[in-house]
Formats: sequence, C-alpha cells, structure tokens
Amino acid sequence: MPPSVDPASTFRSIHERVGLAGERAGHRVNLVAVGKTHPADALRALHALGQHAFGENYVQEAYAKQRMLADCDIEWHLIGALQSNKARDAAERFDWVQTIDRERVAEALARWRPSGREPLDVLIQVNIDAEASKAGCPVDAIGPLAERIATMPTLRLRGLMAIPAPSDSPCRADAFARMARLHAQLRLDHLCADTLSMGMSDDYELAIVHGATMVRIGSALFGPR
Ligand SMILES: *Cc1c(COP(=O)(O)O)cnc(C)c1O
Repeated sequence: MPPSVDPASTFRSIHERVGLAGERAGHRVNLVAVGKTHPADALRALHALGQHAFGENYVQEAYAKQRMLADCDIEWHLIGALQSNKARDAAERFDWVQTIDRERVAEALARWRPSGREPLDVLIQVNIDAEASKAGCPVDAIGPLAERIATMPTLRLRGLMAIPAPSDSPCRADAFARMARLHAQLRLDHLCADTLSMGMSDDYELAIVHGATMVRIGSALFGPR
C-alpha cells in the first residue's frame, strides 16, 4: 500500500469502508489502529482525528509510546505474542490483550492485573489454519481455555482473535467463516464474548462480511513499515 499524501483523508476513507462493510454485515465494527514501528507522533495525529483504540505488538515499544501519549485518552491493545517475563507490564499497561493462547498466559495476566482496576479484556488467539509455525490455541482447546479464563475475576473474556494463513481470498474467506462459527459457539456459554477480532489492511472488508466485529489495521493507515 503506497504511503498516503493526506493521513486525514486516508483515515476517513478507511473508517467509511469499515462502516459500510459493517452495515452490509449488520453489525458494528471497532477499528484498532496498529502502530508498530511508527512513532508516537503518528499515533497522536490519528488520535486527534478521533481514533481511540491502538494496537501494539511489543510491550516495550508500547510503553515508550504510552508515556509520550499519556495526555491522550487511548484504549491500548496488545496484539503480539506475550513473553512470560512481560506479563506484569502487559497486565498493568494495556486495556486489552488479544493473544492469550494457553492457560499459563492467562494465569500470569490474571495474577498481575491490579484488582482495583477494571478487569483486563482478553481474547483467545486461535490458530485457525493449524500452522505449525504460528501462535494460537488449537481449535479444540478453545472451550477448556475459555472455561478457565471465566473463573479469573481480574480477566474478562471478550471473544476470539485470529490471523489466518496467507492464502488466496477463497481460502481466507473460509478461515474467517470458520472463526465466525467458533465465535458463535463460544458466545452460547460466555455472554461477554462479543468480539471477533480478525482482518488486517489487505482483508478487513472480507473479514467484516464474515463476522469480524474488530479489525486491526496498520499499514493502510500509517503507510508501509
Ligand atoms: C501488524 C499486525 C496487524 C496490522 O497489519 P497490517 O497488514 O499492517 O494492517 C494486525 N494484527 C496483528 C496481530 C499484527 O501483528
């Protein structure tokens, strides 16, 4: 995606496309702006245009930006793999963690989330294409992991997240559709699990049509990394 000459019009047109796809699909969609590798000033500029939710992959990189943007009302999402030695920082500094894929990660976050704060909103990351190289919970382990998270008062299970394997769009559409079925199934037992996070710069409209309620968009908003 070429860098935009006018960040404000790029921002508005992506919001419009997200909104239109959501209308077609019949639900509201939240946009998380993914700022990894981009400086705090770039995030500040989007915040000034009305962007509220920002995603970061690395706890350390996020922390530097959080300090520089302390005057902004921002909802911070961790969307990268969580190393266990960063669990405390993540639990204290983020509003959402989208990458829980096993009990140990959930336990660490639950332990460190300050009990005086709102519960940490969490998503289970699903390895939807069963890729050997990829993080994420296997499909048949979602239920038990969700049950465990539901017992942790400092966490609030909000749904599922996935990054499908790179593939042509029919395959990707199929992965999104399978995620939507898993999400519908999860909601039967977990009423708070209203969120399905999938779709990035090159496939967010496809993801929304297949049921995404949250999309994570980086390069289309900020330019190439
Ligand atoms: C980087 C990243 C994104 C955004 O990717 P783009 O293709 O730049 O939109 C979304 N989700 C995750 C988990 C990422 O790591």
